[in-house]
Amino acid sequence: MQRGVLAYIQGYDPGIFPQDAAQRWGIEPGRVVNLASNENPYPPPDNVLEAAGAKLASSTNRYPDPKYRLLKDGLARYCGRSPSGIAVGNGASEILDMVCKVFLEPFDRIVMTAPSYTMYALLGMLREATIEFVGTAGHGFALDGEFLLERAANSKIIFLCSPNNPTGSTVDRKELELILKGTEGIVVVDEAYAEFSGSSAAEIVDRYPNLIIARSMSKYFSLAGLRLGYALADEDIVSSLEKTRLPFSISSIAEAAAVEALDSLDYYDRIRGEILKQRKGLFRGISGLEGLEPYPSSANFLMVKVNPPIRGLVDSLASTGHIVRDLQGLPGLEGQFIRITVGTQDENESMLRALESAIP
Ligand code: PMP
Repeated sequence: MQRGVLAYIQGYDPGIFPQDAAQRWGIEPGRVVNLASNENPYPPPDNVLEAAGAKLASSTNRYPDPKYRLLKDGLARYCGRSPSGIAVGNGASEILDMVCKVFLEPFDRIVMTAPSYTMYALLGMLREATIEFVGTAGHGFALDGEFLLERAANSKIIFLCSPNNPTGSTVDRKELELILKGTEGIVVVDEAYAEFSGSSAAEIVDRYPNLIIARSMSKYFSLAGLRLGYALADEDIVSSLEKTRLPFSISSIAEAAAVEALDSLDYYDRIRGEILKQRKGLFRGISGLEGLEPYPSSANFLMVKVNPPIRGLVDSLASTGHIVRDLQGLPGLEGQFIRITVGTQDENESMLRALESAIP
């Protein structure tokens, strides 16, 4: 009865969560240092929480604005483009799904770099597309446009991620434009972490009708629990994307919080400064540990190579209440790698101490 493709899909693997650490190792969720999911360690400012609370109190029995006008106006000001060039969704996750719904027919080809965010492959498989992984390890995890195009013939969608999860490297503008000009397909640049890098392809969306930028408010704007994402694209693509979104998939509470967050940019700029300072310290600290090699990152996380003879690092950290993301088995990576989110100074210091005790 069920579609055959389900037999080949395992579902998204979110890694170890604090609730798992509580269940498996008996650690109170409040004591866990969770640096696994690239969340912002700082909460949104009080005015954002108040706006969400006020909406919860006044309008929970009502549907949200079906056109999300206030949200789109806020995003339009933030991104410097017209609301008609912006689609919104329940997290960047829904945006990526909407892109697949708009473009993919069974047996279409999608191309993604590897290692990268595995949801592209999963969403493509759910549409019965064929997935081509283009490895970047041979190029120091940088994107080589020509190399990718040679493998991307007849592809419907090319998924790029900048900064890339998990490597932290950004897509070079020249390489991106080479790809945009060299493909007949759609190029999605996932910019879930763009604000930490200071670089974005937003300014070239109007020059390339085959470019879609996917963005998230989970990371920089500290709204992971409320689920908000958006896309910047050509108006014609935006109106098709909007047709595929489930009705009212963004709650009125999330919309109210997002609108207020987009009006609180000074606060977010300050916490970005702190996160970037902490990233430097975490990088330095990990570099000083025997057997661990962090990669330079333009995002709020670091990919770290774990050299032999270190084994079982992820579990031994978790047993002390320190959660990192295990990258074992991620297409495009050979050997042991982990990903560590940049946390607060206290969290990072605690993680560095736990790493030091966990390595032989
Ligand atoms: N893209 C990338 C690269 C991500 O890392 C994530 C979150 N892990 C997402 C998209 C999804 O973000 P959201 O929470 O907005 O659905």
